[in-house]
Amino acid sequence: MSTVISGKALSEKMRAEMTSQVATFPDLYGRVPHLVVILVGEDPASQSYVRGKAKACEQIGIRNTTILLPAQVSEETLLSKIAELNADDSVDGILVQLPLPSHIDEDRVIESISQDKDVDGFHPLNVASLWMKRPGTVPCTPKGIIRMLESEGVQIKGKRAVVIGRSQIVGLPISKLLLDRHATVTICHSRTVDLPSVTRQAEILIVAIGRPRFVTADMVSEGTVVIDVGVNRDPQTGKLCGDVDFGPVSEKASIITPVPGGVGPMTITCLMENTIEMFLRKMGADKK
Ligand code: NAP
Repeated sequence: MSTVISGKALSEKMRAEMTSQVATFPDLYGRVPHLVVILVGEDPASQSYVRGKAKACEQIGIRNTTILLPAQVSEETLLSKIAELNADDSVDGILVQLPLPSHIDEDRVIESISQDKDVDGFHPLNVASLWMKRPGTVPCTPKGIIRMLESEGVQIKGKRAVVIGRSQIVGLPISKLLLDRHATVTICHSRTVDLPSVTRQAEILIVAIGRPRFVTADMVSEGTVVIDVGVNRDPQTGKLCGDVDFGPVSEKASIITPVPGGVGPMTITCLMENTIEMFLRKMGADKK
C-alpha cells in the first residue's frame, strides 16, 4: 500500500506559512502583494478556478481583484486592459484565465502581459528563462509537483523519470524541472510506441494527459512514485477522477497523489507563491 500525498494538507501548511509572511509586508514594504485575475466569459469550470484563486488570496492576505469581461469582448479591449494593468504599479501579478473564446488569440494575450507580472509563467520570456536556467517565473502546476516530491523526501537525482504528456503548461516544464534536478527524463505522448514498456521503467511517473484512469496497474512497476495531474469526469459516475486508476495503482506505487485533493490545490498554492515572489522581486527584497 502506498503513501498518499495530500496536496490539500501540504497546501494548508504552505498557505499558513505564507499568511504569516504576508502579514509582515505592510510594515516592511507599506502594502501587500496584489494579484489581478481576468475572466472572460462564463465557463463554469473557469469560474470555479477563479473563485478558488480569490479564496486562496483572501486566506493568505494577498489583495485580489477579479475582472469579469463578457465572452464577446474584443481582443483589443482585453489587450488594452492588460496594458493598463502592466502600467499600474500597484499590481504585482496578472493572470488571464484560459481558455479564451475562440475569437481571441491566446498567444497574443499571454505575450502582452509584462514578463515580471506573468504569475502563470506562460510568457515566452519566462518559458525561455526556464529552459535557459535564468531567473524567471516557473509555471504553477509543475512547481507544485516538485514541492510534493520534496515534501515526501523523494530523491530525484539519478532517478528514471517518465512524463506522459508534452503540453506547454505541464508536461514540458515538469520534464525540465526534473532534468534540472538530475533525473533521467523520458517524455511520452500520443505517438509513443508501446507506452506500458516505457512507463514500467519509471521510478517517478508523472501523468498529464487528460484521460480518465488511463494509467492502469500493469503499466506501473512496484515502488514507483506516481503523480497524477489529470482532472477528468468519470464517464460513468460524473465524479472527478485523475488520469491514473488510483485503487489498483496505489497497491503497487510507493507514493501516489489523489484526484481530487492532490496536484490541484498545489497549483493554486504555487500561484500564491509566485505572486509573493514577484512582489518581493519588485520590492528588491530578493536581492537583500
Ligand atoms: P493537453 O495540452 O491536453 O495535452 C495532453 C497530452 O497528453 C499531449 O501531449 C498528448 O500527446 C498526451 N496524450 C493524450 N493521449 C495520450 C495517449 N493515449 N497516450 C500518451 N499520451 C497521450 O494536456 P494538459 O493541459 O497538460 O492537461 C493534462 C491533464 O492535466 C488534463 O486532465 C488537465 O485538466 C489536467 N491539468 C490539471 C492541472 C491541475 O492543476 N491539477 C493543471 C493543468 C492541467 P500529443 O502531444 O501527442 O497530442
